[in-house]
Amino acid sequence: MIGLPRRKVDSLRGVGKARALALGRLGLETVEDLLFMVPRYYENWTQAIPISAVQPGEVVCLQGRITGLVERKTRQKGLVITEALLRDDSGDIGLIWFLRVRSGQSSYIRRQLALGQEILVYGRAEQDNRRLVIRNPQWKRPTQLEGNRLIPVYPLTEGITQAQMRNYVGQALRLCRHDIGEFLPENYRRSLSLPERWAAIRGLHRAGSREEADAARRRLAFDELLCLQLALRIRRKQAEKVPGVVHSPDGALVQKFLGGLPYRLTAAQRKVMSEIAADMESPTVMQRLLQGDVGSGKTVVALYALIKSVEAGYQAVMMVPTEILAEQHYRQVVKAVQPLGIKTGLLTGALTDKEKENLRWELAAGQCQLVVGTHALLQPDVDFQRLGLVVIDEQHRFGVAQRQALVQKGNPDVLVMTATPIPRTLALAVYGDLDVSLIDELPPGRKPVDTRWISPADRERVYRFIRRQVEAGHQAYIVYPLVEESEAVTARAASNEVERLRKTSLAGLEIGLLHGQLTAAEKDRVMEDFAAGRLHVLVTTTVIEVGVDVPNASVMVVENAERFGLAQLHQLRGRVGRGSVQAYCLLIGNPSTPSGKQRLHIIRQTNDGFALAEADLKLRGPGELLGTRQSGLSELRIADLVEDLPLLEEAARLARSILASDPDLTAPHHRALREELYRRHAMVWMVGAG
Ligand code: ADP
Ligand code: MG
Repeated sequence: MIGLPRRKVDSLRGVGKARALALGRLGLETVEDLLFMVPRYYENWTQAIPISAVQPGEVVCLQGRITGLVERKTRQKGLVITEALLRDDSGDIGLIWFLRVRSGQSSYIRRQLALGQEILVYGRAEQDNRRLVIRNPQWKRPTQLEGNRLIPVYPLTEGITQAQMRNYVGQALRLCRHDIGEFLPENYRRSLSLPERWAAIRGLHRAGSREEADAARRRLAFDELLCLQLALRIRRKQAEKVPGVVHSPDGALVQKFLGGLPYRLTAAQRKVMSEIAADMESPTVMQRLLQGDVGSGKTVVALYALIKSVEAGYQAVMMVPTEILAEQHYRQVVKAVQPLGIKTGLLTGALTDKEKENLRWELAAGQCQLVVGTHALLQPDVDFQRLGLVVIDEQHRFGVAQRQALVQKGNPDVLVMTATPIPRTLALAVYGDLDVSLIDELPPGRKPVDTRWISPADRERVYRFIRRQVEAGHQAYIVYPLVEESEAVTARAASNEVERLRKTSLAGLEIGLLHGQLTAAEKDRVMEDFAAGRLHVLVTTTVIEVGVDVPNASVMVVENAERFGLAQLHQLRGRVGRGSVQAYCLLIGNPSTPSGKQRLHIIRQTNDGFALAEADLKLRGPGELLGTRQSGLSELRIADLVEDLPLLEEAARLARSILASDPDLTAPHHRALREELYRRHAMVWMVGAG
C-alpha cells in the first residue's frame, strides 16, 4: 500500500453523519483535509495595545485586569447582560456580553471571571454613549495562549461553528502527528528556506507569529506546485516513450502553400515554423504550445503544420472547444487548403447521423485528410487510418484522459494554440509539460488600435463616426454581448438592433447580421458579403470573436463592453487593425464597479495582449481567465497563481533539476517524494504505462 490510509472526518470526536456532511460541503472529506485547510485569516492576539489607544471601529487585542463585574437580568427570560470593566496602565474599556442562562443561575462568564483577574480580550471596539465598549468580545487567560497567539479563523458552513472547527483541526493535528513525514530532501528545503513539513502544517494552525503563518502557507503551497510541475513533466516524458509519428521534410505541397501567401512571413513566424518542423520530423512526439498575441499570425503557422502532416501522408486534425468555433475554423481552413486539393471534413454534433457515418468512414479509410471538429473527434468510435497531427485551439479541457485517447489513436504530434495570450504563470502551471513557441512580433505596418470608452449617452456620435469611416472606404463591426446566457435571445436582440439602425442612425448603409442561430450557409454568405465590401457594417454577437479576418474593417464597436473580460475585449479589438489603416475600438458602456473601471483603464492603456492577460489574471483569477476549471488548476487548494508566482518559478526550477538527475524518481532520497506524488497525482503513472 502506498500512501496513508484515509481516515474519514467522522472518525473525529463530535463529528457524526450530519457534521460530516457539512464538512463535506467545504471539501473536507478526510482528517488530513482538515490539516491543509488554510484559515481565512488569523485573529491577532500577539499585540495587545494600550487601552487608551483604542479607536472606535477597530478590531483590537487588549490585555488588562477585571476591575468591575456585574450581571443584570433582562426583560427577556433566560437572557442576561454581563458587564465587565477592563483596565490597564493607560485606561479602561467596557466589555459587554449578552448571554443565555438557565433560570436562577449566573452565566458561565460570570462564573469564570473574577475581579482582579488578568485576561486578554479580542473584538471590535464601539462607541457607546460617552465610553468605549466591546460587545461579545472573545477572551482568554494569558496562559491559554502560550506561544500561539495567532488564532485561525476557518471557512465555515451551516451546522459548524468556529469553535467546533478549531476543535476538529486540533484533533486532526494530534491524530496525524506521526503520519506526516517529510518528503522534500533537506538540502532542497534549506536552499529554499522552507520550514519542515510538519512544522508547516502545525504553523498553519498554531502560528506564534505572522511570519510563521506565512512561511507555513508558503511551504504547503510549494508542495502543491512542485508536485504539479513534477506530474506534468513526468506525464510528458511518458508520452515521449511511445514512439511518435515521423513526418517527412517539407515538400512541394507545403512550398505551394507558402508560395501562395500574399505576404512575407515575419521572422518570428519562420522561427516557430522551424521549431514545429523539427518536432514533427523527429520520432519523439511533439508537445508544443503556440503562443502569440492577437493578430500575430498564428493561423498560418497552424495551417502550415496541418498541411505538412497531410503532405507526409498523414491525417491532420484541428480540435476546438465549441461547434460554432469548429464551423468558423473549418471555413478558414477550407479556404486555405482547397487550392491544394486537400480533402477536408467538419465533424460536429450538428451533423445528421448519416453525415457523421459518412465522415467516420472517410476518416477510417484515410480519404478525409484534414478534419476540423470538437472533442467528438477523440471518441473511440472515430478511427483514423494514419493520424499524424492534432492542432488544439484554445484547449481548456485537455487532460490526461485526452492524452491517453491520443496515444491510442497513434500518438500523433500535438500543437496547442491559444486564441489570446496566457500569462507566463498560467502557462507554466497549466502547460508546464509543453514546449513553447512564441510569436513575439506583429506583421509589419500595424498601427496600434485607438481604443476609447464611450458612454451610452454618446452612442449617436459613434454612429456618425462609423458613417465617416464608411465614406472613407472602410467597414465596421458592432458586437453585442450574450444576453441571458442564450445565443437565441442575443440573436433576437441583435436582429432588432439591425432593424432600428437601418431605419434610423445608419440609414442608407448596407448592414449585415451574423449570429450563431444562422445556418452555416447563411453565415458564409454574410461573411462573404462583408469580406467583399458589399456590406458596410456587420452587426454580430460574439461569434465573431475568433478567426474573422477582414483587413479593410477599421472600426470595432462593442456594446455593453463592461460585460466582457479583458481577454475577450482584446480578442474583439484584434478583429480590426489588421491592415495598414488606423483602426478604432469603441467600447460603449457604463462601468459601475471598481473592477469595471479598472478594466476600462487598462484596455485603453495597452495593446499588448500579454500585459493584458497578466492584468486579467490579477483582476479575475485563473479560473475565469481559462474559462473552465482546468484539471491541473483545481488541484491547487493552497497555492494562488497570482500571489505565488515566484514560488511557482522556484517549483518549476526544482522539478526540472530533480528530473534531470533522476527522471523516474527512483533514487533513495526521492522515495518519499515519489510516494507523495503518487498520492496526489496517481493518474500520472498510468499514462503510456510501463
Ligand atoms: P492570430 O494570431 O490572431 O490568429 P491571424 O492568424 O488571424 O492572427 O492573422 C492576423 C492577420 O494577419 C490576418 O489577416 C493574416 O492574414 C495576417 N498575417 C499573418 N501573417 C502575416 C504576415 N507575415 N504579414 C502580413 N500579414 C500577415
Ligand atoms: Mg486566430
